[in-house]
Amino acid sequence: MARKRIGELLVDKGLMTREQVETALKESQRRGELIGKTMIRLGLVSGEQLLQVLAEQLGIAFYPNLGQLLVSKGLASPQQMEAALRESQRRGEILGKTILRMGVVAEEQFLQVLAEQLGITFAPSLKEVQVADQLIKVVPARFVLHYKFMPLELKGTVMKVAVSDPMAVWVTEDLRLNLGYDIERVLAPEKEIQAAIRRYYGVGSETVEQILTRDVAGREAREAQDLAKVEEIEDVTRSADDASVIKLVNQLLSEAVTSRASDVHIEPFRERVRVRYRIDGILYDMHMPDEMRYLHSAIVSRIKIVSKLNVVERRLPQDGRAIIKIQEQQVDLRISIIPGLYGENVVIRILPVELLLTLEDLGFLPSELKMLQALMQQPHGVVFVTGPTGSGKTTTLYACLSVLNKEAVKVVTIEDPIEYELGGIMQFQVKPEIGLTFAAALRSILRHDPDIVMVGEVRDLETAELAIRTALTGHLIFSTLHTNDAASGATRLLNIGIEPYLIASSVNAFISQRLVRVICPECKTERQDRDLLPEPFRHAAVSYGKGCDACKSIGYRGRTAIHEIILLAPEIQELILNKASAAQIRQRAKALGFRTLFDAGVEKVHMGITTPEEVLRVTEPEALVSAQPVS
Ligand SMILES: [Zn+2]
Repeated sequence: MARKRIGELLVDKGLMTREQVETALKESQRRGELIGKTMIRLGLVSGEQLLQVLAEQLGIAFYPNLGQLLVSKGLASPQQMEAALRESQRRGEILGKTILRMGVVAEEQFLQVLAEQLGITFAPSLKEVQVADQLIKVVPARFVLHYKFMPLELKGTVMKVAVSDPMAVWVTEDLRLNLGYDIERVLAPEKEIQAAIRRYYGVGSETVEQILTRDVAGREAREAQDLAKVEEIEDVTRSADDASVIKLVNQLLSEAVTSRASDVHIEPFRERVRVRYRIDGILYDMHMPDEMRYLHSAIVSRIKIVSKLNVVERRLPQDGRAIIKIQEQQVDLRISIIPGLYGENVVIRILPVELLLTLEDLGFLPSELKMLQALMQQPHGVVFVTGPTGSGKTTTLYACLSVLNKEAVKVVTIEDPIEYELGGIMQFQVKPEIGLTFAAALRSILRHDPDIVMVGEVRDLETAELAIRTALTGHLIFSTLHTNDAASGATRLLNIGIEPYLIASSVNAFISQRLVRVICPECKTERQDRDLLPEPFRHAAVSYGKGCDACKSIGYRGRTAIHEIILLAPEIQELILNKASAAQIRQRAKALGFRTLFDAGVEKVHMGITTPEEVLRVTEPEALVSAQPVS
């Protein structure tokens, strides 16, 4: 091992005695600290001496006059350097560390000077670097975390790694011996290396390592076990209370909140546990270390404890809820657990406890906003919001209700499930298993004399009919329908079995919506190849996100809705009375000035809000729109 060799080297040079080396070795093992660090901390050798010896041995250029170099480059004043030197001696710390800690020179400048001096490459950012999966498999997480480096590339016998501390020369030697490759170093800022480790080795990988290496013998025993027996070998309740498991679960949730994830998926497979975050509607793999497999049941138990679920029950699905505080922000968690082949699958939905949304925030354009406001001022009638699951229908309805929620009116909702709590609004959860269906709840609620009712979803004839009759008796109703576009709303109701005259006389509007991702404002750039885009996008500026820190290189940050609104003008009512097709309704609506989802999308592309790809992902250009309900 390199550790012993460092000791021998220092003894040979007469810088330390054999006894001192032994003491340092024991101490470093006890603390799990690098031997060189222990030696410096114990005052057995100075940082500079240690480096000089190592550098000599490894044939690396040594830079004894770092201070002078920084002064000569004009990066620090002689006074600053003198103060840093005194401080480094007082603390027994390597000068470079002190300089950074005192903020004499910024890390990036400092590393640049060092790299120049050492004749190695400096990489100010690792964001663009693509690391092969194969390489990640070759270098275990525990190595990466212990030595704080990031493997970048493997070419023949040479492995290129990013390090932030070039003074830790022994690291190169340790890596060479342990991994069996020659090591070529690239200098990079510490936070860049940490971000790369998180990206390639997974969130919380450090905690996983800590838990697993704390008891190496126990871990080997566990690995030897048949995987099917994994759930039996640990006292789950105890390990779930373990401070490290708590920390790991907190890290997973906290990173999810920071990444603006809406859901966390924890999925066990035979070999590994996959953790994915849904961010702006798309799932991203968080690349957890394979070893997390052994902690899966402890993690699930911890989640069950937080959400007050039955820890012992592992054969039946369970649903729970928890309100927790993450980074000073209260979040509402909906937990769903379903047993699978290799353990329990967990999906955690993350909801902000308070929803502060205005209609403008939801993406309504000024002309649409005017229509919507007029609809909200109607004394009675139904407004249906349509779109597939995950198109933000409920959020739009909540925002409408928040606007309407005033002292003079009573607002009631019937939902399944209640997604957000709305202050001052009576919200009811349907419970079909005890007979409290949408229709049954609506019947009871009418006796509570509401003015405005939101019915979560209209799926069957009974609910649809009741909602429409309620509207006809002087109530304003908001609801959702599961159809692709606004024009199909009417045909959907006809298909359910509602009489055409009831639709024509009660419905005020069908609004359809989709969510598109918003271009990250930090890295928004104008697109130069717009001639290559489909026809409607070519005629004005088109932007895209290049990818940056703020959007985690995705190029998008957040989502907004695009809408189409069909108002039930007399001409449209007439078509419905004649049981016209969705295509006919659409055609007539267009003649009356109706703008489709696609049109709204194109407008938002030219406004620089989203991209053609996003619009094409969630809508279909005119000719392709189907009149079928979404299955
Ligand atoms: Zn960005």
